Amino acid sequence: MKKLEGRVAVITGGSSGIGLATARRFVEEGARVVITGRREKALQETAASIQGDVTAVRGDVSRLEDLDRLYAIVKEKHGHMDILFANAGAGTIAPLAAATEAHFDQTFDVNVKGLFFTVQKALPLFKDGGSIILTSSVANVLGVPGFSAYAASKAAVRNFARAWTLELKDRNIRVNAMSPGPIDTPALATTTGLTPEQAEQAAAQFASQVPMGRRGKAEEIAAAVTFLAPDESSYITGVDLAVDGGMAQV
Ligand code: NAD
Repeated sequence: MKKLEGRVAVITGGSSGIGLATARRFVEEGARVVITGRREKALQETAASIQGDVTAVRGDVSRLEDLDRLYAIVKEKHGHMDILFANAGAGTIAPLAAATEAHFDQTFDVNVKGLFFTVQKALPLFKDGGSIILTSSVANVLGVPGFSAYAASKAAVRNFARAWTLELKDRNIRVNAMSPGPIDTPALATTTGLTPEQAEQAAAQFASQVPMGRRGKAEEIAAAVTFLAPDESSYITGVDLAVDGGMAQV
């Protein structure tokens, strides 16, 4: 029996990295998936590369009108949804002394405001309970030099899971955060503005702090999300599931 047979799942940031690996895994498990992200071409290529029921909808989670359009399409195509993986995130490096207002605003616009409204605007589509998984980060409990705004935004995500668990319990909607450690995805190279060599160096530096001694794979995160999404985890809500090779424990 497939874990997500017939379930309707929406994944933000679904054309790359963790979101893409999760879209693939959800489809393997029988879900009907809607992915959203900002890059139309990458989204369409992703949807075409996955054998199954995948719909790609271009959209920026920090733009409320894009979220309205996304959920209008979900409603039209599926009538409801069962699972939301609110995963899109932004994380540029910016030490305190050098960070600009634009950097700060962009980080919070996507990771905090964008995620808040991604969830709020999905609520009318949850008809019969459901599961919401929020991508936070191991940075939500660590001091990470150069990433303080990012870490603070991910701590907010962790706290959203706590409050929304209580707000949504009567609708039988579970809300969990999921916090990756350093994962091999395009994120470091594409979002930090580092050269490929600097990005590799930064990734190696993060990985050296992981007790398991390596970076994680996007598929290992997808496996954790595929545990939190279905009823298999029916008594788990409000947690922050670290998928970080033990990094948060150091
Ligand atoms: P990625 O760059 O491979 O993918 C990020 C995805 O999010 C892309 O599809 C991108 O288009 C999308 N996205 C970014 N901003 C968006 C916006 N405003 N609206 C819609 N889509 C947007 O990165 P990833 O590593 O897969 O990151 C996914 C999530 O995991 C992010 O929230 C990130 O903060 C978090 N995370 C990543 C790591 C890591 O080491 N890779 C560690 C901890 C947390």
